[in-house]
Amino acid sequence: MQIFIPELRLKNGDAVDYSFESQLSDILDDSSAGGSLKLLVSASCSGDQVLIKGVLEVTAKFDCSRCLEPFNHTFKTDFSEAFTVTGENTENDNRDTLAEKAANKLTISGDYLYLDEYIRQLIILTEDYNPVCKPDCKGLCPNCGADLNKAPCDCSSNNNQIDVRLLKLKELSPGS
Ligand SMILES: [Zn+2]
Ligand SMILES: [Zn+2]
Repeated sequence: MQIFIPELRLKNGDAVDYSFESQLSDILDDSSAGGSLKLLVSASCSGDQVLIKGVLEVTAKFDCSRCLEPFNHTFKTDFSEAFTVTGENTENDNRDTLAEKAANKLTISGDYLYLDEYIRQLIILTEDYNPVCKPDCKGLCPNCGADLNKAPCDCSSNNNQIDVRLLKLKELSPGS
């Protein structure tokens, strides 16, 4: 995922749209489970400033935070950022180094804005840490660990909450 700056300069400040598709494994080291991303970027250049804004969409397998079942989940995030073009010599910098500079210092050295590292950080920042497979996922029984989406377990017939209430009633009743 890269943007060629000389091409942007030719547009005299007008925006150019880019779209990228990539496997998550190309960007994240720990995404053995697969997944993919789509990136729509609108970029413009004025002076030594390159402005980008767009939408990132990530689709991947997540483990439900309630029932632990893996499921496909998509999340989207908007972003907008300004990068400064530096006159820095890039002869000794490889693509990864340049991508890191872009992400961490918001600078562009050389002819390309490499977005990989920026997008990697964006994914980590916006990742949904408590995804649920469906809004009404019943989760696992805290007592026996059964998946309550599949079937109620035996524990539910002697519900803990009722037990607690009964105990309280016992405490309150005179003569106990
Ligand atoms: Zn679930
Ligand atoms: Zn149970």
